[in-house]
Amino acid sequence: MITVLRLGHRRFRDMRITTHVALTARAFGAKKVILSGEKDDKILESVADVAKRWGGGLEITYDKNWKRVIKDFKGTKVHLTMFAPSMTEKIKEIKAKKDSLLLIVGGEKVPGEVFQMADYNIAIGNQPHSEVAATAIFLHEYTNGAEFKTTFKDAKIKVDPLERGRKTVEN
Ligand code: SAM
Repeated sequence: MITVLRLGHRRFRDMRITTHVALTARAFGAKKVILSGEKDDKILESVADVAKRWGGGLEITYDKNWKRVIKDFKGTKVHLTMFAPSMTEKIKEIKAKKDSLLLIVGGEKVPGEVFQMADYNIAIGNQPHSEVAATAIFLHEYTNGAEFKTTFKDAKIKVDPLERGRKTVEN
């Protein structure tokens, strides 16, 4: 099972990007998202609402105590940061573990301890970009591109793909 831990959320300032981290995590295979930083019920509610309508059973929770989340997690802990060696060097090793995965993504400033607590510090290139992009690219590689075939049996609404136009079907 894949869990994404989003560190250092700031209400208002990070509202959209944290929502996008959670939605990206869901679409790319995570079953659980834990938000840390400032508590923000609006995000918890809006992501839970998407998960309920579009299916997949994503659980989203808040935990102020990110240290305990990382410490208590049973499985492989991967921290995404521009300062680390490239994903390409370690992804095979991480996948071979066939373990539960805790994927840790930061916000403005990630506490130094995170680098020590993670089993792997991994960069998606060594340029600064975004927690959304880093989450998507790591999970794409980790799941062998599973997002291209993902459908959720419990979805109340789904897209009927068209070359042009927009169509959704309600179950
Ligand atoms: N200088 C920051 C850092 O520590 O990577 C950039 C902060 S960035 C706004 C927020 C988060 O996006 C980072 O904590 C990291 O999880 C992710 N991120 C950004 N660029 C990345 C990269 N090149 N590789 C992996 N993760 C990245």
